[in-house]
Amino acid sequence: MELFSDFTMTIDGKAVDSNNPLPVINPADEAVFAQAPDCSQAQLDDAVTAAKEAFPGWSQTPIEERRACLNNFAQAVEDNSDALAKLLSTEQGKSLDGAKLEFTLAINMLRKATTLEIPTTLAEDTEEYIVETHHVPIGVAGAIVPWNYPVLLMMFKLPYAVLAGNTIIIKPSPHTPLTTLKLGEIGRNFFPPGVFNVISGGDDIGPWMTSHPGIDKISFTGSTQTGKRVMQSASSTLKRITLELGGNDAAIILPDVDIKAMIEGIFWQAFDNSGQVCIASKRMYIHEDIYDDVANALVEYAKLIKVGNAAEADSVLGPVNNKAQYERVLDLIADSKANGYTFLAGEEPMQGPGYFIPITLIDNPPKDSRIIQEEQFGPVLPLIKFKDIDQVIEQVNDCDYGLAGTIWTQDDNKAVDIAKRLQTGTVFINKLMYVCPFASFSGHKQSGLGTECGVEGLLEYTNSQTFVRAKLTN
Ligand code: NAD
Repeated sequence: MELFSDFTMTIDGKAVDSNNPLPVINPADEAVFAQAPDCSQAQLDDAVTAAKEAFPGWSQTPIEERRACLNNFAQAVEDNSDALAKLLSTEQGKSLDGAKLEFTLAINMLRKATTLEIPTTLAEDTEEYIVETHHVPIGVAGAIVPWNYPVLLMMFKLPYAVLAGNTIIIKPSPHTPLTTLKLGEIGRNFFPPGVFNVISGGDDIGPWMTSHPGIDKISFTGSTQTGKRVMQSASSTLKRITLELGGNDAAIILPDVDIKAMIEGIFWQAFDNSGQVCIASKRMYIHEDIYDDVANALVEYAKLIKVGNAAEADSVLGPVNNKAQYERVLDLIADSKANGYTFLAGEEPMQGPGYFIPITLIDNPPKDSRIIQEEQFGPVLPLIKFKDIDQVIEQVNDCDYGLAGTIWTQDDNKAVDIAKRLQTGTVFINKLMYVCPFASFSGHKQSGLGTECGVEGLLEYTNSQTFVRAKLTN
């Protein structure tokens, strides 16, 4: 398989090119390094037709066979993962180690999701009748994926949808289509034609998918703003939807924390993938007793981390993935400067081509500042001094988002008490972000609708069907 060229879509098990190329940029040097196909509306129709035609056969295929297809695919992805990680790192910007880690997490998700069982619920069982609820596949699923973790987030969708008996059309972000296209190419060897389709192109395709009468379910991961458009558009055909959206996750650092032991975790929870993680800490509340020590430790730790082109072996953090996001993060930094906030690190921009932003720490900005109120999705972190935990919980919850949060403390019981008061779908306690394939992952409030992962995530790719059966006496 050619890795850095010959990018084709996968429709009905076949390679499909397009007359319109979609240029893909390496965010480390802003140069176009590859072309992906830009899917036409007619090609989307072809993908939907193929997925629709494949659905009856696939949904009736025994689950053990569906599982085997997914496992064989997982093995082939793993066999190619080191080579594919290089491609991922070039289109996304993350370091090669970061890209390899993404593959490890994605393969873990794929394999473990594949072990799940679709439950049947026995609702009532009397002498005269029995009532039981089954879960049947929905039909054609459309999966729309963002650019921060293209491979991992695709695996939040693919195995659950396909194991449940649906066929799927996957659409990566226009900023990171390439690795997903190669995964589609690998998939041609393992799934019957039409079961696993991958298309690529510009931002037009998303709305075509969400309004397409042949697509029965949309699983969308992206910003809250776009998620609202998806919901609106999907309503015309009453599609089932799952929305995994933005966040403004808080980290709460209690005064008993062992700073030396935990600073590495505290740092990476915020700056992994240059802050472009939906569940990264985006505002950090630090108790006043240890505020200066934690702030200093973060500044010192940041000095050890090289921000640079993934092609340079010692680079740990890469650029922001795309120009629009780069400008958005720079705008938040400019706003913080204009308002006279103190920078503990990263005030000066980085030189040269590429969407690089230094690790930036802002010292105790006011609580109504944009850098606290908005999702930055980049390597900029406001540190906020607090005294009273009740007030902090109130401030953390006073937010339209509710994706995740993190608590750092030596006192596990206290952490659980605080966790129960946070209005978020996930709470990490002294643990770096990890999304478990067996646990439901969801956003509260405007961070999402529905659930991915776990049995709950699997069931989002099904309709329930209840049988009410009389017990015949003879
Ligand atoms: P985005 O909303 O701009 O785009 C996401 C995807 O939607 C892309 O594939 C894009 O092409 C497509 N799209 C664009 N317009 C569309 C439309 N009108 N209808 C349908 N699809 C459309 O988001 P992004 O900038 O790619 O990603 C960053 C955002 O994603 C951040 O807000 C981040 O918090 C969020 N995110 C959330 C999760 C989660 O699990 N909750 C995970 C990762 C990222």
